[in-house]
Amino acid sequence: MGLRLTIFGAALLWVGSGAAFDFGGIDLGKVGEMIGKAQEAVTEVDEPREIELGTEVSARLLGAAPLVENVSVQRYVNQVGLWVARHSERPSLPWRFGVIDTDSINAFAAPGGYVFITRGLFMSLRDEAELAGVLGHEIVHVLRRHHLDAIQEQARLGLAADVAGIMARRDGRRIDALVNAGMELYTKGLDREDELEADRDGVVLAQRAGYAPDGLRGVLVTLEAMGGASDALALLFKTHPAPADRLAALDERHASRWRHGQDLPRLPRRLAQFQQALYERG
Ligand SMILES: [Zn+2]
Repeated sequence: MGLRLTIFGAALLWVGSGAAFDFGGIDLGKVGEMIGKAQEAVTEVDEPREIELGTEVSARLLGAAPLVENVSVQRYVNQVGLWVARHSERPSLPWRFGVIDTDSINAFAAPGGYVFITRGLFMSLRDEAELAGVLGHEIVHVLRRHHLDAIQEQARLGLAADVAGIMARRDGRRIDALVNAGMELYTKGLDREDELEADRDGVVLAQRAGYAPDGLRGVLVTLEAMGGASDALALLFKTHPAPADRLAALDERHASRWRHGQDLPRLPRRLAQFQQALYERG
């Protein structure tokens, strides 16, 4: 009995080792090492790499829709955005803001401090407090690394599903894989909870920078009034919770803030001056 078990065990061991050496021509040790390295690239994204990734993602975004060619408008949005970002917990990121030349109504953020608002949304704002509210929302996405986390999650899923792909992937292509995963987010959207957090804390940030806190609220009221029928809003509606839901969540959280912040500046004239510059451009 003991002998038979030993022979059986030896047979198992032989079959086992045979499998380890011949796995469809794939070197499992190497696959393990590659997965390890790729996981590392995905999990350990320090601030310089976060910024590098954001730069790549932004370049792709701007490749699809360039910035508005108006230096004073771009400078203005940068001044407002920087002022709000400096009141955040990551004031020293290389923050950069831009108005993208498209009629569609939206705003985006990319890792490392990139924030974009479309010309369509910029032109539909009523005052600078609303601009600060929109930028505050996007700034919170950057602060909390919402895109970065989602990109890493996407890449992790991609890696698990694509072992052969990892075998072929060179070091330089890993950042490409992350950027590709990142681009998908702009059509798929972030998690609902991330969006609600960006609304909630973006309001706080705008107020800390000195603006009337209900700027973002005003923008959401405008979006709700425009409704889902507008083509210009299709992507925003697809990638964000409904304005009514966002308004309800904000009002529940910030009702007393709205009351107490009533008299803080809104600066409608200052915004209008820059909107006028874009109207005149035609
Ligand atoms: Zn958002």
